[in-house]
Amino acid sequence: MNSLAKTTIPAVIGTVVGGSLYAAIGWWGFLLVFPWIGAAVSLGIHLQQRLKDEKKLLGRKVCILLILPALLMFVPLANRENFQLEGVILIILAGYFSKGFIHYAVAKIFGPLLWGRGFCGWACWTAAVLDWLPITRHKRPTVSEKLKNIRYLSLFLSIIIPVAAIYVVGYDVKGSYIGKAELTWMMAGNLVYYLLAILLAFYFTDQRAFCKILCPVSLVMKVPSQFACNRKQPTKVQCIECGLCNDSCPMDVDVMSYITRKSPVADTECISCNSCKVLCPVSAIR
Ligand code: SF4
Ligand code: SF4
Ligand code: SF4
Repeated sequence: MNSLAKTTIPAVIGTVVGGSLYAAIGWWGFLLVFPWIGAAVSLGIHLQQRLKDEKKLLGRKVCILLILPALLMFVPLANRENFQLEGVILIILAGYFSKGFIHYAVAKIFGPLLWGRGFCGWACWTAAVLDWLPITRHKRPTVSEKLKNIRYLSLFLSIIIPVAAIYVVGYDVKGSYIGKAELTWMMAGNLVYYLLAILLAFYFTDQRAFCKILCPVSLVMKVPSQFACNRKQPTKVQCIECGLCNDSCPMDVDVMSYITRKSPVADTECISCNSCKVLCPVSAIR
């Protein structure tokens, strides 16, 4: 398959997923959002292939910015829903079904079985802002492995808060939350996430510090990502150990060690951003 045909694959997948969900559930928004996301990813990959040198990295940044309004503004607003992890858990515990649940199923649970943490690389609305912050990232990691464990506390809080709201406080989810307070919680939650994420990015001079230290969703996605079919792979070309892939990786993955061993990149921190692949001077990564 030639490279132009390959770049259209996300657009085709987006159209098929959107059409299938529309056929199954009947909400017209699926016909807009999924093809839009697929087309944005196709455009991003196309730009990565066409632009030269470091400019290649713009492809993914353009894509993630294009997806931001579709996911953050359009879907929650049109449905008056909270797509944050805590909101989705609250709804599920109360026995209701929501489009936020579909979002989690497609983007964060079943999707990663195919494309790993591609959502984090290409579609997350928090990262869409972080990736454009005017920060020159250090080539060496500034976030320690110990700090990354704080994410477990975030995940614990994201689960325990809705559990306590229902089983301890007796919160009336149907009467007080669904379609009423949901959107306010979504916007308030996002505001807090953005604020913390921007502060951490500047403090650690690392746009993705929030992803590594605080984001509870990263842990959810790391589980199915272990089984992802689509990983960065070594090609037949011998790596010259220039280190550029490691320097360019926004998630501090030791890409070079995988490629020199001729192994697929199995680290679940990988967000499939393609930076290592498009910058490798000898095309040793695919
Ligand atoms: S780790 Fe969290 S904040 Fe970072 S890109 Fe993934 S979902 Fe978004
Ligand atoms: S390993 Fe490559 S594709 Fe994965 S996050 Fe790092 S640079 Fe991006
Ligand atoms: S960028 Fe390519 S050649 Fe350089 S270390 Fe990475 S895989 Fe090897």
